[in-house]
Order: sequence, then C-alpha cells, then structure tokens
Amino acid sequence: MDHETCNNELHVAVQRFITERNWDRYHTPKNLAMSIAIEAAELMEHFQWVTNEQSIEIIQDDVARVQVADELADILIYCLSFLNKIDVDINTAILRKLRRDEDRYPIGRMPTED
Ligand SMILES: [Mg+2]
Repeated sequence: MDHETCNNELHVAVQRFITERNWDRYHTPKNLAMSIAIEAAELMEHFQWVTNEQSIEIIQDDVARVQVADELADILIYCLSFLNKIDVDINTAILRKLRRDEDRYPIGRMPTED
C-alpha cells in the first residue's frame, strides 16, 4: 500500500466514523480548529514542567509512548476531518506547504533567523 492509498483510507475511515454517529453537524471549522488545539494541549500535558532531556526519557516508556501516540492520533483525526470538510487532500496540503517552507528556510538557515 503506498502513502497516497494509505492516506486516502484514513480520510475515508475518519469520515465514516463521523457520518455513522451523525457528528457531521458538530464538525464545523470553528469546532475542529478548537478541537485540534485542545488535543495539542493534551499532548503538551505529557511534557509540562520537564526539561527537553526529561521529555526524551518520558517517551522511552512504553505506556507514555502509547498515550502520546493516542494524542497525536486525536490531533490528526481532527485534522483529517477538517481537510475532509474543506475538500483538501493531506498529501497536497503538506507538499504545497513544504515547497513554500523550502523557499522560506533555505538549507543551513535556522527558523530563529527571521
Ligand atoms: Mg485526546
């Protein structure tokens, strides 16, 4: 299975989950944007008050890694729902943004050099 097929399957799986529960009416752009931020905050909770080094240690733990993966999945599920809503394919969106970022951040230039 190539990445495009896999990603399309994820778009379809997310849409099926939402449609089967009649949750489409709740998945408005505002609610989806807020939900992405809320799930991102849940991800950040795992690393609140720890150093960069401690965050690397935390992620070595099997239980913590699954919990973090669950939060990443929550974020991506809402992202896919949002992309479905505005009829944009994730491959297209990421590749377009990467091309723009390549121009903005030439190799060797750090993001802090703006
Ligand atoms: Mg969550």
